[in-house]
Amino acid sequence: MKRGPEHWVREEILALEPYAVASAEGMVKLDAMENPYRLPEPLRREVGQLVAEAAINRYPDPAAPALKARLRATMGIPEAAELIIGNGSDELITLAAQSLARPGAVMLAPEPTFAMYRMNAVFSRMRYVGVPLRPDFTLDVDAMLAAIETHQPALVFVAYPNNPTGNLFPEEAVARIVAAAPGLAIVDEAYQPFAQKSFMPRLAGFPNLVVMRTVSKLGLAGVRLGYAAGGPEWIRELDKVRPPYNVSVLAQAVAERVLAHTEVLEAQARAIRDERGRLQDALASLPGATVFPSAANFLLVRVPDAPQAFAGMKARRVLVRNFHGGHPLLEHCLRITVGTPEENDAMLAALRESVA
Ligand code: PMP
Repeated sequence: MKRGPEHWVREEILALEPYAVASAEGMVKLDAMENPYRLPEPLRREVGQLVAEAAINRYPDPAAPALKARLRATMGIPEAAELIIGNGSDELITLAAQSLARPGAVMLAPEPTFAMYRMNAVFSRMRYVGVPLRPDFTLDVDAMLAAIETHQPALVFVAYPNNPTGNLFPEEAVARIVAAAPGLAIVDEAYQPFAQKSFMPRLAGFPNLVVMRTVSKLGLAGVRLGYAAGGPEWIRELDKVRPPYNVSVLAQAVAERVLAHTEVLEAQARAIRDERGRLQDALASLPGATVFPSAANFLLVRVPDAPQAFAGMKARRVLVRNFHGGHPLLEHCLRITVGTPEENDAMLAALRESVA
């Protein structure tokens, strides 16, 4: 007798909701921490030429030597560290969970944080332990250390800066957590271009540390490329789980070329950091709004009625993320990506009208 998916699919998968990505057709899109700027025309033409010449009849080189050399040259990766690339850092999270998911293994992270950590714990059947941040989203280091002692996690994630809160935990607090972790500790530096703080130079000091990054927030979200650096003995195990052709010929070629022009991406990141400061002040002056400190390319704002503000902004064609109803600490919180000055002005006007 044939049975449907409800009989065969794992219960914990049946219980999940699919990862929701809202349609942004015709909207000011400030919901996904993308860089709002395109590449300059000459570089776009270079990329076009590269795509025209790419050997897309062949599989990509899994060793990606040109791309890895470029990453090493531009991203401050210590020579002794090994490097792994992923189809977005999302895939690297998956690989870490898959390789560490012994029966009973624990994944631990502060909460609220990036939702894909917990999702991957579910996918890989790891037990997830979330350690609450304080209500102002600061890190409770003692609670983290106690939870690490109790649960002996195989894998600890710390997003540095954190998403969706935007704040950068103190460096020495994160260092203590990495030092206390009995297994692998991944410091996720997705927002490093906006925080300008990194554990990359400290890799040698922590044998169990892997620093994970992405080019998504830097301006290449559509390329899908993440990378992680760490001790060869850890990276080697993650690499065994990696699908051999995970980063396409096109992604490798385009990322390698664009990263040869880091001055372009750095100028864009600087413009975003400047706008973040302006937005922070403008949002703070809205009646009833609380803006949390951010070292990322987005701001978390608490408003009197987030669902109403979100709906009002949406009606005015501005898309942000509403976190109300998710984690209890995120009550009435909206997460707003920093866009271009024009986009930010449109967002501020929409928000002002929606909370009035
Ligand atoms: N880590 C963090 C903290 C993130 O916020 C995100 C994206 N929202 C990712 C990783 C994944 O990024 P990507 O897959 O685009 O590299």
